Amino acid sequence: MAYEVTFIPGDGTGPELAEATRRVLEATGVEFRWDRQEAGIDEYEKHGNPLPEPTLESLRRTGVGIKGPTTTPVGTGFRSVNVALRKELDLYACIRPCKAYEGVRTRFPETDIVIFRENTEDLYAGIEFERGTEDNAKLREFLAGLGAKVREDSGISIKPISVSGSERIVEAAFRYAERYGRRKVTAVHKANIMKFTDGLFLEVAREVAKRHPDVEFDDRIVDNLCNQLVSRPEEYDVLVLPNLYGDIVSDLGAGMIGGLGLAPGANVGDRAAVFEATHGSAPKYKGQNKVNPTALMLSGVMMLRHLGEEEAADRMERAIAEVIRKGERVTYDLKPRRDDPTAVGTSEFADAVIEEMERQ
Ligand code: NAD
Repeated sequence: MAYEVTFIPGDGTGPELAEATRRVLEATGVEFRWDRQEAGIDEYEKHGNPLPEPTLESLRRTGVGIKGPTTTPVGTGFRSVNVALRKELDLYACIRPCKAYEGVRTRFPETDIVIFRENTEDLYAGIEFERGTEDNAKLREFLAGLGAKVREDSGISIKPISVSGSERIVEAAFRYAERYGRRKVTAVHKANIMKFTDGLFLEVAREVAKRHPDVEFDDRIVDNLCNQLVSRPEEYDVLVLPNLYGDIVSDLGAGMIGGLGLAPGANVGDRAAVFEATHGSAPKYKGQNKVNPTALMLSGVMMLRHLGEEEAADRMERAIAEVIRKGERVTYDLKPRRDDPTAVGTSEFADAVIEEMERQ
């Protein structure tokens, strides 16, 4: 039976990356029925909405999507497609594996961590009060009544962290650890300073950990974690973090494994999951058949695992790893020099992965 999957090419370099990934996914032998849907800046320019209702409807129906990156222009009324998708479908877990593959130039070859970032709360909840507005003044007055003085020339962002929001992300991290034989989950926070938000997150994490006695549990303060990740990455396994720290540590992780071109991701909720690279639309390379499709392909590997197609996922991941290890038919970013004339394009990288899979 073919899996019905919502296929969103996105914009910028997205369509090239999505096409390369689609070809490799099909070459695994798993059958897909792609429901192609649009999102991103091209869609906005054509029809005035970067995330059309049929795209959302498709995701609600199929429950599974693979998506190329989409551009969010700065300083316009344009809402981010990614933020809207997370909100509309309640995709509360952002999962980002950061694994250093052999053949990639990195100072951290031991890195093999999986980041679980909470996607809906924290300082990203969008509860903000602009400096100088009436609402800002009302809020400051209210706070002053509670004995909390805030300077008049302040902007204010609120950081909500709930028991239910924390519980479901920590639970997801433990379930992942159990399913994939990971030994440890580390909760990351700043509970020493923010006792009622990060402190709550940590308290909930400790409670959830008691329900999963076969997986080790510990916690780290986020600044200490950053220091330790770059000095002893091999000591870390699954990390679970509130939204803001999760965002920052995800990019640190991507840097540790050799760059954005290699960092996959998934946004997962209880009813739907959207698989996409960590990186953006890299618009300056649009239409050049140049950028590295590994991150989106590895997101495709995550999608296969989500669908229960473990064997196909293993084969596809091994083939990608082998192409990278050989270092011949890889894109410019994986060559020792960025102007290396032997670098191949996005599409030729996909050909190399497909040939490698056929050899296995
Ligand atoms: P970006 O990730 O698109 O690109 C930054 C640089 O990283 C590129 O110029 C390129 O040098 C490198 N790079 C990125 N992906 C690569 C790949 N696959 N292979 C090789 N090199 C790669 O970041 P940006 O320029 O800050 O963002 C561009 C747009 O993408 C913005 O509008 C941003 O909002 C959006 N964005 C979208 C997503 C998403 O759709 N999930 C995520 C992040 C950013």
